[in-house]
Amino acid sequence: MAKQIPKYDIAIIGLGVVGSTAALLAAQLKLRVAIVEARNLSDLPVSKAGRLDAEVYRIFMQMGFRKELEELLHPLEGTQIIDRKENLLFELRHASFEGSAPIYGFYQPDLQKFLLQKIQTSYQQYIDIYSNYKAEAIEQGQHLVQIHLNRNNNFSQIQARFLLVCNGRDSLIPAQLEMPYRYFGNSYYSLNVDTLTQEEVEDPHFARTICDAELPVTQIIDQNRHQRWEFKLKENEVSEVNTPKRIRSMLEKLIPADFEIQSTYVHQFEVKLLDEWQRKRIFITGDAAHVLPPYLGLSLSAGIKDVYNLIWKISMVANHQVTGHILDYYQGEREPNVRHILNLNLWVERLFQSNWFRWIKRLKGMIPKAILQKQLSIFSRIDYGLVGSKHKERGYFFPQALVRNLQAKQLYIDEVLDERFVLLAFDENPVDAIRASQIEYLAKIQTHFIKIIPQKAEFKAEARFANLIYDEKGHLENWFKKNKARYAVLRPDRIIFDLAKNERQLKKVLKLLMKKMPIPI
Ligand SMILES: Cc1cc2nc3c(=O)[nH]c(=O)nc-3n(C[C@H](O)[C@H](O)[C@H](O)COP(=O)(O)OP(=O)(O)OC[C@H]3O[C@@H](n4cnc5c(N)ncnc54)[C@H](O)[C@@H]3O)c2cc1C
Repeated sequence: MAKQIPKYDIAIIGLGVVGSTAALLAAQLKLRVAIVEARNLSDLPVSKAGRLDAEVYRIFMQMGFRKELEELLHPLEGTQIIDRKENLLFELRHASFEGSAPIYGFYQPDLQKFLLQKIQTSYQQYIDIYSNYKAEAIEQGQHLVQIHLNRNNNFSQIQARFLLVCNGRDSLIPAQLEMPYRYFGNSYYSLNVDTLTQEEVEDPHFARTICDAELPVTQIIDQNRHQRWEFKLKENEVSEVNTPKRIRSMLEKLIPADFEIQSTYVHQFEVKLLDEWQRKRIFITGDAAHVLPPYLGLSLSAGIKDVYNLIWKISMVANHQVTGHILDYYQGEREPNVRHILNLNLWVERLFQSNWFRWIKRLKGMIPKAILQKQLSIFSRIDYGLVGSKHKERGYFFPQALVRNLQAKQLYIDEVLDERFVLLAFDENPVDAIRASQIEYLAKIQTHFIKIIPQKAEFKAEARFANLIYDEKGHLENWFKKNKARYAVLRPDRIIFDLAKNERQLKKVLKLLMKKMPIPI
C-alpha cells in the first residue's frame, strides 16, 4: 500500500528564531505544524543577532514568556556612539511601552535553546520537527502545498495548507518561485565575536558603537558577563583581521577584565528586499524576504513581526472563520515597516560616512546636548491593510497598561487579551453599543468583548457578555481621553483596527471591518 503523505495546517521551512517563533505561535492556536530544518538540532543555536526591539518583547509577552525571558533579554535604552575614551558623541533613542525597555540585548544561542525547548516540551503535541531534512522543492496546488524533502539522498514529501518560508537570507525558494530580489548598495562585512568575562563589567545600558576604535565596533553587554562585539570591516580587511591573535589583541584594548572568546565569525551579506512576499498559500518571511543593514540590529525583530502578522490570519482562515482574502494583506502591512527600518539604517550609515562625529569630537562641550540625541521611531504602523479609516492611532500597537482581572490579579493588558479580535469599551458594556447583526458577526469571529472599569469606580462583576478589566493605574482612561475615544477595536496582534468616540462611529468602524474581513458563506 502506498505510504500516506503527512498533512499539516502549516509547514515551516527553517528553525531559526523566526521559524521557531512561527511554530510556537501556530501551536498556541492549536494548528498542526511541521518544521523542516536542514541542520541537526544540536547545531542550531548560533550567535547571529544581538538585539530585539520593544514590539518583539510584547510579542513574547503575549506568548506567555515574560517571566522566562527576564533571564535572557537584557534591557537597553538605545545605541550610543562614543569615542575610545568613552566620550559620548551621539545617542540614538527609541520609544518603549509601559513595562518594557526600548530595546533588548541577548545571546542568540540561549534564546534559541529556550524556544526549542518550548517546542519540544509544551507544544510537542502540535509540532513535528523534521531535522536533518532539506526542503528542496515546493509545488502549490489549489488547496495544499507539497514540500519535497531530502535527507541524505532519501526523498520524501509532506503537505500543508499553508507554507511559511523562514530559511534565511540564502533561501533558494524565492528563486524557484521566480520572485526577484531588489538589491540596495554594497556588501557588508562584520566580524562578530562573543566573549565571556570572569567578572561582571560595567553595564552602560546602551548598545555602544566605538567609532574611532582600531576598527569601528558595536558592543552589546548583557547581565550574564557575556559581551557581543560587531566589528565593521571592509572586504580587503577580512583575511587580515580574522585571525585569533589579531582578534584577541583588538579585544584586549576594549575589555577591562579577563575574558574568554566564545565564538567568532565573519558575517557577509548584501541588503536586499523581495518584490513579492506571497504566492497564494506560500509566504516568505524573515531574512528570506528582507536582509537589512547592520547598524540598528533590527533584522531579526523584523522577521519575528512578519510571522506574528501572519499566523493569526492563517489560523482564522484555516478555521473557516473568515475568507482567505485577509492573507493578501501580509506584504502591504509589513513591507512599509521593513522599508522604514532599512531607510533608518541607511541614514545611520551616512552619518558614519560623514565628518559629523569628527566635528562633534572637535567641538566637544560647545554643542547643546539636545543636538547630540535623536529619537528614532522604529514602531510599526499599518497604513494599508486590515485597518480602519478614522483615527490617527489606527494601525499602531494598542498601549500596554497594567490592569487587574476579576480574580484580582495584576497583569499587563497583553497578558489578559488572547489571540482574538477585541472590542473594548471604556466604562461601558460594548455589547450595548452595537447592532444585533454586528454582534452576530463579532461572535462568529470569536471576538473578546471587554468593559474597562475606571480606576475610581468600584470593581465588581456585572457586564453582560463582556469581560471586565480594571484600569489599575488610570493609564487607559488617560489614553482614551487623549484620543477622544470611547471604543477600540483591536486585532489579535494588538494592532488598533480603529477607535470610535460614540456609538454611531463604532457602527461605521465595524461595518468597514465586516467589509474588509468577510465571513465565508
Ligand atoms: C551569519 C549571520 C550573522 C548575522 N549577524 C547578525 C548580527 O550580528 N546582528 C544582527 O542584528 N543580525 C545578524 N544577522 C541577522 C539575523 O541573525 C537574522 O535577521 C535572523 O537570524 C534571521 O532569522 P531567520 O530565522 O529568518 O533565518 P536564520 O536564522 O538564517 O535561520 C534559517 C534556518 O533555516 C535553515 N535552512 C536553510 N535552508 C533550508 C532548507 N532548504 N531546508 C530546511 N532548512 C533550511 C537553516 O539551517 C537555519 O536554521 C545575522 C545573520 C546571519 C545569517
